[in-house]
Amino acid sequence: MNKIRAVLLVEDNTGDARLLQEIFKDEGSVDTELTHVTSMREAEQHLAENNVDIVLLDLGLPDAQGLEAIQRIRAAAPRVPLVVITGLDDESVAAQSLQEGAQDYLIKGQIVSSSGQVETRGLLRALRYAIERKAMEEALSVEKERAQVTLNCIGDAVACTDVAGNLTFLNIVAEKLSGWSWQEAAGRPMAEVFKIITSENHEAIDNPMDVAVDENRTIHLPSNSILTRRDGFEIPIEDSVAPIHDRDGRITGAVIVFRDVSEARAMTLQMTYSAEHDFLTGLPNRMLLNDRIKQAIAVAPRHGKRVAVLFRVLDGFKHINDSLGHPTGDKLLQSVARRLVECVRASDTVSRQGGDEFVVLLSELEHPEDAAITARRLLAAVAGAHSIDQHDLHITTSIGVSVYPDDGPDAEALIKNADTAMYQAKENGRQNYQFFKQAMNVRAVERQSIEEGLRRALERQEFMLHYQPKVDLRSGSITGAEALIRWTHPTRGLIGPDQFIPVAEDCGLILPIGAWVLRQACEQARAWADAGLPAITVAVNVSALEFRDKNFLESLFAIFRETGVEPKCLEFELTESVLMKRAETSAPILQILRGMGIRISVDDFGTGYSSLSYLRKFPIDSVKIDQSFVRQIGVSDDDAILVTAMIGMARSLRLRVIAEGVETPEELAFLRAHECDEAQGHVFSPAVLPQHFATLMTKGVPGYGASQASVTAPDLDVRTDHSDSDQYAGATNRNAVRVSRRATS
Ligand code: C2E
Ligand code: MG
Ligand code: MG
Repeated sequence: MNKIRAVLLVEDNTGDARLLQEIFKDEGSVDTELTHVTSMREAEQHLAENNVDIVLLDLGLPDAQGLEAIQRIRAAAPRVPLVVITGLDDESVAAQSLQEGAQDYLIKGQIVSSSGQVETRGLLRALRYAIERKAMEEALSVEKERAQVTLNCIGDAVACTDVAGNLTFLNIVAEKLSGWSWQEAAGRPMAEVFKIITSENHEAIDNPMDVAVDENRTIHLPSNSILTRRDGFEIPIEDSVAPIHDRDGRITGAVIVFRDVSEARAMTLQMTYSAEHDFLTGLPNRMLLNDRIKQAIAVAPRHGKRVAVLFRVLDGFKHINDSLGHPTGDKLLQSVARRLVECVRASDTVSRQGGDEFVVLLSELEHPEDAAITARRLLAAVAGAHSIDQHDLHITTSIGVSVYPDDGPDAEALIKNADTAMYQAKENGRQNYQFFKQAMNVRAVERQSIEEGLRRALERQEFMLHYQPKVDLRSGSITGAEALIRWTHPTRGLIGPDQFIPVAEDCGLILPIGAWVLRQACEQARAWADAGLPAITVAVNVSALEFRDKNFLESLFAIFRETGVEPKCLEFELTESVLMKRAETSAPILQILRGMGIRISVDDFGTGYSSLSYLRKFPIDSVKIDQSFVRQIGVSDDDAILVTAMIGMARSLRLRVIAEGVETPEELAFLRAHECDEAQGHVFSPAVLPQHFATLMTKGVPGYGASQASVTAPDLDVRTDHSDSDQYAGATNRNAVRVSRRATS
């Protein structure tokens, strides 16, 4: 036990002071030095200048009474134990003294025992205990301070409650996260300060502290808990709550440790989002779509509904990418994505599969036909001009539709069949939708059989060329003939080039076929010239693969040599994409051809998204406005304006303009009125056999009379009798074509 060396007695009553001094003397403690002062002022001075082991304080001093006296001593010597002496046997004063920081109190009358003897041992023991208690308190407060500092240093929020669930501690992080200061929060119910809700339904979760205390175990909050800060701001948190036990194992409260996981949770969300969405358009990707289809399939039957999957591709998107560059292509995809999303209900899903492929999932359909309504809406939405990088891009779409359960039991089958139907739509003409039919599965098989047939077609001489006149719209004379290939299949009969040229391009057979066409056309041109028919140019369609072939020029020269045809009688029709793709290499080849006198024409103009001014880089003689634009004449003024603009621009670049596929007198009248140079189409004549073409040249096309040259040929009414001419013409583009035309350039 500690020795008491220096005691300060603060007592104004000299009698009482003497009594105490005697007690010390009696105790015989030689080491103990007792200093007696009679006022607070003196006491304060003494404490400031000396080391004191304990203070004995009377509460009735002349310059300080009661609790004030205690406070002043505590202020003057906070670490010195204090025992209060009071004359009153007043429990409340005593209790208050202890609360103010005194370690003990003595009541004057009781220091003297009932026998009249001074209770020496009682006093000294009281003093020793007081000193000890003070020492313990000090140690405890050091310990507490250390704990406090530690808790404030850790990055997690820590809060404690008592068994009743009222807060007994908050560290700094907890203050910050909750928005409550410890002063304000102290003693309040945990649930009032920490409002924890779930992110799903924003409902409060069970008070975790109560659960930990009631169940006496460590618990964790649900993984998506949110703390609502005092100002309403929501912070995602992660935490654990544990009960606090005293030394006897009794629960005295609970401690909650939690941290702000906004960043981690945001990162997880971002990662999940990225894994499920297309980077470019932000639309759900294949993975998420599959999930959604699965869900829709699971739910729809319960409500007696159907699910439709619409697969769509953008016609000619590849051309845009090739000619205007990928950044423009990307922007177009984003623009398309936005329009698609606007067309469907929030419960439907628009997803991008990659490239120019989008899939739209329509959940909960009443009737399969409802999908057609949406398909039409989607077609119209995408068709409007997309203003991108100073271009007004027009794009059409092909949509394939499959419906659950009719067309497949699962996401995979539905997408596959919608894809098949989409190809059918594409082949039926652009800007089209098509429902899946079981029969479409034979498409692939048919394609295979076409390829096999093509391999033998050349040697079996199954090909022939038909010729379609191009007519000068001012004079009415025939200026040229387009050579169009026809294939008489041994079992299927006549097959149009739209059905087999793409297959030939895919398997490379286009090279020998193209060479055959070229030779045939040259021989024909030579034959007409020899027969003394008026000089016209014979146009030959050249595919990308042919044009790119390194032997192209060489075999061309050979054909010229062998047939003896004059190159100026020949014209090549190339599509925009053939020119634009690797434009640097196209231009020199075109220069050589032009140098020889061969004319160059841009076929299907307007569908490839090249601009006329860009085409100016190439040595070109004429452009052929695609028949899809001609078809719009008389339908809508807007599209007719497009035709007018094309004519105007081409003329300003000194290019001849030829309108393709002119079918009606109205179209013809419009084109003439707008000074289109030439036209080609059924309004004059379909493609016909060579001998009939010769007749046309001499008799002239209907409505214009004879051509300028006057050569006699057998009479033939080409306008009314097409029996042995182009049997399938007119139906070509609308036929149920069963070959894919995925990549023709
Ligand atoms: P293209 O070069 O644009 O040929 C014009 C197509 O429109 C021809 O179809 C022609 O018969 C058709 N047509 C002409 N006037 C009218 C009309 O008034 N109404 C309608 N609806 N159609 C009309 P065809 O002969 O089926 O040829 C289709 C495509 O096949 C050609 O389009 C061309 O790209 C390609 N092609 C044809 N022959 C050859 C060839 O010998 N070699 C290559 N590489 N491609 C060829
Ligand atoms: Mg052509
Ligand atoms: Mg064309």
